[in-house]
Amino acid sequence: MVEIRQFLSRSDNFSVLVHDPATGATAAIDAPEETAIMKALAETGWSLTDILVTHEHADHVEGIPGLKAKFGCRVVAPRKAARVPDADERVSEGDRVMVGNLVIDVLDTPGHCPDHIAYWLQGQKTVFTGDTLFALGCGRIFGCTPAAFYQSLQKLAALPDDTAVYCGHEYTLANARFALTVDPANMALRTRALQVENLRAHDKVTLPTSIGLEKATNPYLRVTDPGIQATLGMAGADPVAVFAEIRERKNRF
Ligand code: ZN
Ligand code: FE
Repeated sequence: MVEIRQFLSRSDNFSVLVHDPATGATAAIDAPEETAIMKALAETGWSLTDILVTHEHADHVEGIPGLKAKFGCRVVAPRKAARVPDADERVSEGDRVMVGNLVIDVLDTPGHCPDHIAYWLQGQKTVFTGDTLFALGCGRIFGCTPAAFYQSLQKLAALPDDTAVYCGHEYTLANARFALTVDPANMALRTRALQVENLRAHDKVTLPTSIGLEKATNPYLRVTDPGIQATLGMAGADPVAVFAEIRERKNRF
């Protein structure tokens, strides 16, 4: 089995530690902030062996140099990333990363940025989606086409429904409020939005989510839904156009 520790760092980044009890190996998914990761390692008693980077944005890599200096850990970075400090290995779709005995498959998920990848632990029914798929949302588009982003989201949506999803930020409340504006009649979404309001009011985290829950409630995975298309005035429109429209509206929300 795998042990996962998740905690907030910076203002709204999620840090995740993935631990293989059989070997003691521990990977950080991204390294937003050295001190928050050090604190979690001290609390768990785990020692950092690997950092798996989803994309090169500063809020995901700034903790790397300090952690590398302390632990000498391996840094695995997206093949297309140009600005990941201390990268030891480059990976892209089809590559497989071992963390101890844990088998992790790499998925290319461009859209938020061209270099973005996700890490899929098929055997543990878990995926780390960085800033591609958020709970009830997705990342902003930088340097990619909406079509590319849509394809990446479809790839993640094709994973089994009971796959646990860990993402890079706690944006769920803002995403829920926006999602209701484009999918107001969705009862599953309305129920979930109330749960999210309640969790955040008590300072609790809203993750992980699951692929099945996202397919039922995340508007970016529901672009072919007739209700959403009607709300947008886009009945029968191309799914990529609907995706782009929802993403545009969120930018202005
Ligand atoms: Zn980012
Ligand atoms: Fe980010």
